[in-house]
Amino acid sequence: MSSVASSVVEALTKRHGTGETITVVDPATEERITEFPDAGPEAVNAAVAAAKASYASGVWTDIPARQRAKVLWRLGDLIDEHAEAFAELESLDAGMPPAQAKMIVSTCAEFFRYYAGWCTKINGTAYQVQMEGGVNSTHANFHTYTVKEPYGVVGLIYPWNGPLFNACAKVAPALAAGCSSVVKPAEETPLTAVLLERLIAEAGVPEGVANFVIGYGATAGAAITAHPDVEKVAFTGSTEVGKEIMRGSADNLKKVTLELGGKSPVLIYEDADLDMAIMMASMGIFVHSGQGCVCGSRVFVQRSVYERVVAGISMIGENLVLGGPRDEGAMISPLVSAKQLDRVMGYIEQGKRDGVEIVSGGYRVDRKGYFVKPTVVTNVDPATSRLYREEIFGPVVTILPFDDDDEAVAMANDTSYGLAATAWTTNLARAHNLGRRLNAGMVGLNCQLTFDHNVPFGGYKQSGVGKEFGYEGIEGYLKTKTVWAAL
Ligand code: NAD
Repeated sequence: MSSVASSVVEALTKRHGTGETITVVDPATEERITEFPDAGPEAVNAAVAAAKASYASGVWTDIPARQRAKVLWRLGDLIDEHAEAFAELESLDAGMPPAQAKMIVSTCAEFFRYYAGWCTKINGTAYQVQMEGGVNSTHANFHTYTVKEPYGVVGLIYPWNGPLFNACAKVAPALAAGCSSVVKPAEETPLTAVLLERLIAEAGVPEGVANFVIGYGATAGAAITAHPDVEKVAFTGSTEVGKEIMRGSADNLKKVTLELGGKSPVLIYEDADLDMAIMMASMGIFVHSGQGCVCGSRVFVQRSVYERVVAGISMIGENLVLGGPRDEGAMISPLVSAKQLDRVMGYIEQGKRDGVEIVSGGYRVDRKGYFVKPTVVTNVDPATSRLYREEIFGPVVTILPFDDDDEAVAMANDTSYGLAATAWTTNLARAHNLGRRLNAGMVGLNCQLTFDHNVPFGGYKQSGVGKEFGYEGIEGYLKTKTVWAAL
């Protein structure tokens, strides 16, 4: 382990907490990396108090916006300078191949540079209002305008599947907006949070502005959500916990942004570039062992090319090299934990009992680590199959045939989720019609797994509330005040 990584691990174990001990496990080897104390509600109370005091003092929110921008830019540079250490920690914690982890780290640094640009561009709107029948004249004039103000103290809670990415997607706009925050990583993957916290201070963010608490969801997470001094919670995680966050936020009517689960459809037509569609549909579910919110876990294929697509995705799944960060040539990481392994295998076994056809994969790989072979499933009953209807968050894809657009769209939209959808077709009009008809927050036409810091990201239906990234991302940390001035 590099010296920076070992100092991070050591710092984690020395954190204060009142709760039970949490063990961090390397998912590729099942070996214990370290242990640390659960933060517990007292640490949350202290973090909220620090955030509240820093916000009230104006130490961050009242400095000139261009100064905040410089600090954010510096933070992006510091992340780049520590890219090796971040990638090492992310690989260790989440099992990612080093190349994938490095690519993600550079994306994370960019979040800070992107939102540095927005610091100086947070503006309201001016309105010229005239009303008939003013007190002393026939009409009254008003200069009316809106101002954008930070929410104040915000809670940022994120999952384990892309720890640093999820942290930066929240911390960068919250800082740019001028908020003070309490940040909680997933208990399974706390390592990069410790380094990020250190660099936030080094970049010049004043003490008390970004406060990390590392603990269980049911303790630390729930305490953030319930805290009366937290005005907004931005959460990424499962739909189930998202609903708890919404319920827990009800007492003080906290605002919430929720980035939740998905069961995203991929439509493949006979006129598509089939080699490309098969490759991308395969990577779109097997990358990171299917532990991506936008993974395309339901593939629908026009009947004339159905057999070819099933065979193609199965063949790719069979040949992808599974392994941990220290395994030569590994392309696909393990599942994050024993719990996640049980969940994924539970769905596969349930599917077998229901009589689905497992075309390829369908088993735990016989080695140390939480590896499940990429799994292709057909012959599912869309009305009753849990494997088909529920988010598995593993390398499991169901493939079904369709005959025409209406059938494809009806099957694709028949889900309580609405995060992402993809269509592969060279028919331009059909592609754009699908862009309109697919009921999801993000639709890819002849592309999959696309992302840009400037482009809004977020789901429809039970996949979320609100958007992240782009201007909408920073707007999620701002409230609008309207000022009326009588002229
Ligand atoms: P999770 O909902 O179990 O946990 C997410 C976070 O919430 C963790 O930090 C956890 O400690 C915390 N938490 C758990 N219970 C809590 C509670 N009662 N109160 C407050 N916080 C609580 O999710 P997970 O298993 O860590 O992550 C996988 C899920 O995340 C999947 O459903 C996936 O689709 C979703 N996800 C969505 C997006 C998106 O942008 N839409 C991105 C990544 C992951």
